[in-house]
Amino acid sequence: MYLSLGNSKDIVSFKKALFTGLAPDKTLYFPVQIDKLSNDFWKNLKKMNTFSLAYEVLKNYTKNEIPKERLFKIIKNTIDFDFPTVLIEKNLYSLELFHGPTMAFKDVGAKFMSGCMNYFIETENLKRKITVLVATSGDTGGAVANGFLGVDGVDVVILYPKGRVSEIQESQLTTLGKNVSALEIDGYFDECQEMVKKSFLDSDLNKKLLLTSANSINIARWIPQMLYYFIAYKNLNTENLKVVFSVPSGNFGNLCAGMLAKKMGLPVSHFIATTNENDTVPKFMKTGKYKKQKTISTITNAMDVGDPSNFVRILNLYDNKFDKLKKELTAYKFTDKETISGIQKLYHKSKYLLDPHGATAYLGLKKYLANNPNKIGIFLETAHPIKFLDTVENSINEKIKIPKHILKLKKKKKNKIGIKNYEQLKSFLLSR
Ligand SMILES: *Cc1c(COP(=O)(O)O)cnc(C)c1O
Repeated sequence: MYLSLGNSKDIVSFKKALFTGLAPDKTLYFPVQIDKLSNDFWKNLKKMNTFSLAYEVLKNYTKNEIPKERLFKIIKNTIDFDFPTVLIEKNLYSLELFHGPTMAFKDVGAKFMSGCMNYFIETENLKRKITVLVATSGDTGGAVANGFLGVDGVDVVILYPKGRVSEIQESQLTTLGKNVSALEIDGYFDECQEMVKKSFLDSDLNKKLLLTSANSINIARWIPQMLYYFIAYKNLNTENLKVVFSVPSGNFGNLCAGMLAKKMGLPVSHFIATTNENDTVPKFMKTGKYKKQKTISTITNAMDVGDPSNFVRILNLYDNKFDKLKKELTAYKFTDKETISGIQKLYHKSKYLLDPHGATAYLGLKKYLANNPNKIGIFLETAHPIKFLDTVENSINEKIKIPKHILKLKKKKKNKIGIKNYEQLKSFLLSR
């Protein structure tokens, strides 16, 4: 069961939380209970394959609502690609999360969510069509659209900030067709997110459509991200309890999932969050005061978030105690210049090519390990560098070879609809 963080009496099922997205009081859903994994689980971890591992980790979050075989099938379909942990330097690893269909880590959350929704849609006879409304700073839209493409009974509407996503990201959003529409919003990601939140509370829209979100506020996108941390731990095959994870953060869903994994017993010694100039959280970690900021555009566009929505979940995991959180989390900000220089240096040193988001996490990890040399560090490489072609090529001063399927994608015709304000969005949705 899940409770709303604004009203602990509002307790709902997995299914309800999945389809509602944002709780009615505008806060986020959160598991009522977080169980520790059993001793048997830890004993068997090394022998388990990734699917069984994932099943054991996730089963309590959908208990009694999705049958065992079906959940297993959803999981198999969700993580049907590799999650390699690549040694970069002594005691420093890159956890590559970009081997999925849209080459960003969000594929996992999106596929799990669409798999779960698909199950409930099949078993229930829904009268209204479901509209998945999703704001994206770049990667979410592609992953969600891909996850829901061709799913019966679901329409996907994506809102993305005009001119603020990379060319490949825009192609991934706008060329799918079928049940996917892409709306180009005059504004920043935060404005897209605001519009989505407003739609959910709009009674005219809710009368006509069954609206649901697919942002990381949705529990079905947020929770399966725990798997990265478990898989990395298994990959390393270590009894060493000094593992540190460094996570490039925007809405802080990914990091928060790592913290949930820790709560279930995963031995993590410390977390590092890295941001770009949108440094609401690094500032918070210094002052203890949370002050949302206006979004600034950077080269790490998936992290251009001035008011990260999952941060309340993080605070909750630490009982809203700043000192408790401070013991386990360090946050660093990196400027675009520092990020570019990080990509360049590592490439010239070891030929390992970072994407700009992963680069901040790499830099954060280096900084932390410099003062904590006896730890083992893993940074989450959240996207394939090819997705940020211009930035990466400019950083290393070299052309990258573009894979065939990307070249094909770039040739496809983009279909998008320009939207200037909420009223236009509303009439678009009502006209469907
Ligand atoms: C979405 C995204 C992030 C930020 O993840 P959050 O869970 O929003 O903190 C980082 N890197 C890439 C490549 C992303 O797509």
